[in-house]
Amino acid sequence: MTARSALHSVPGSQWVDDRADAATIPFHQPDITDREVESVVEVLRSGWLTTGEKAAAFESAFAARVGAAHGVALSSCSAALHLALDAVGVGPGDEVIVPAMTFAATAAAAVHCGARPVLADICADDHTVDPAAVERLCGPRTKAIVTVGFGGQAARMEPILALARGRGIAVVDDAAHAFPARYRGRMVGSLADVTCFSFYATKTISAGEGGMATTDREDYARRIRLMGSHGITRNAHARNGDANGWAYEVLEPGWKYNMPDLLAALGLAQLARADAMWRRRRSIAMRYAAALAGCDAIEPILPRAECEHAWHLFVARICPERLALGRDGFIEALHARGVQCSVHFIPLHLQPWYRDRMTGGSDPCPVATERYRRSLSLPLYSSLRDDQVERVIEAVLDVARRWRR
Ligand SMILES: *Cc1c(COP(=O)(O)O)cnc(C)c1O
Repeated sequence: MTARSALHSVPGSQWVDDRADAATIPFHQPDITDREVESVVEVLRSGWLTTGEKAAAFESAFAARVGAAHGVALSSCSAALHLALDAVGVGPGDEVIVPAMTFAATAAAAVHCGARPVLADICADDHTVDPAAVERLCGPRTKAIVTVGFGGQAARMEPILALARGRGIAVVDDAAHAFPARYRGRMVGSLADVTCFSFYATKTISAGEGGMATTDREDYARRIRLMGSHGITRNAHARNGDANGWAYEVLEPGWKYNMPDLLAALGLAQLARADAMWRRRRSIAMRYAAALAGCDAIEPILPRAECEHAWHLFVARICPERLALGRDGFIEALHARGVQCSVHFIPLHLQPWYRDRMTGGSDPCPVATERYRRSLSLPLYSSLRDDQVERVIEAVLDVARRWRR
């Protein structure tokens, strides 16, 4: 993304790259081929730009890929999370358990339904939600649990689903990072009551922006589709061409969360390349893991045995007792060596809105706090070249050596 934003047009000249160091390895770059370009151009020439046949084709292809009965294409994963919680019946007065270590959208969806997000701590090894913490936080008002496939690896779904089933609580899986991923042999997207995917610019497949809700429940799919298009019975495409195409009914005030064909076409083209892109990310991740195996100052998150990792993120934790610089210093030192990193995530309980609404003095999610202070994410994307992978490794090992205690 950064390389792109560093490009700007100078009048009368061609595109120039004005970064101080043009060789900087960006944290993310999209992987777009002629296939994607042609797919979008076809829609531009088709006479139908908004939600139509391409969105329908993307829905069925994606749902089939993850083994779900239904897919609803939406404008974002944030929208999918909001509609998923609405569909499972979350409303005012309810509580929704959400891991602290996630993006803002996961918990905001509960707030948008009028519910209260309750933040749960994570497991120290892989940063997915801790089932024991979820169990402790379950109460009479708990209506849903949102799991997050952190970095591309599913949460511990079996104990969480068992806990939820026993108490009549719904499970919504935020799989914004977790396509394509498996848990105990099953595709993420077919495990929870509703699963929400993201096609944001940096995610494993991208439509520029976009999301998808997958579910086996017909009633949930119908409700998500209805409330994502104004609560109106038939969308424009279904009405198009009929003599009575002007007629529709508003069953309930909904939201405007549909995915246009323009983006669905991009999503479809990326879906066709998803496995190849995943294999490339996995091979980069394996190379990072092998290179870091000999360094005791930095510890990567590795896949759990029961998971096939989507490899959206490669997260490593620095070991403060072995290094004379902290995480922020580590990122700055990498930046000085031409490698851009990121941090996933600043946990929600440390964010002002949540912090201001917390009761009690002690840290409710100490594992998330500790992991956040030590974590950084290395560049991981299918368009990253081998020479860039080696430069990232060299930079990380050089920083670790230089500041070794
Ligand atoms: C990116 C992300 C989202 C939001 O996805 P959008 O498609 O941008 O709305 C939600 N949850 C997590 C964990 C994410 O990383």
